[in-house]
Amino acid sequence: MKRVYTASDPVNAHLVRELLEGNGIPAVVQDERIFAVRGSVPVVYPTVWVNEDGYEAARAVVEQFDAAAKQPAETASWICPACGERIDGQFTECWKCAGAAEAVSGATGERKRSRLYFLILIAVAAAVIALLLRKLVEKH
Ligand SMILES: [Zn+2]
Repeated sequence: MKRVYTASDPVNAHLVRELLEGNGIPAVVQDERIFAVRGSVPVVYPTVWVNEDGYEAARAVVEQFDAAAKQPAETASWICPACGERIDGQFTECWKCAGAAEAVSGATGERKRSRLYFLILIAVAAAVIALLLRKLVEKH
């Protein structure tokens, strides 16, 4: 087998593995247990391995994944036409002047609430992942 990808965390490693298998390339994740055992200090990064005959195709998939992973953060951000604030791509509304927009539309409270739910969702997802990692470590 050949290593085709070194991930920054187990979640990314499994994303790549699923992407490869979705493209018909069998792949396995290794070193993720070491990553989990060492907790928040990732000395050994999880890696994704494929068979030699699938390596070239896997490289192409991984390069696409890398490019896609890097791009959105930089290119998807936008400038609010009303206040000039730079907004991250995952938000469709300006966080700075949403209040002003709301005074016009009357929907401000709802927007604030949906933003709060979004943040809570991220916090819950992070907690669940941490819990799963801990259980994985205890099992082994
Ligand atoms: Zn704005």
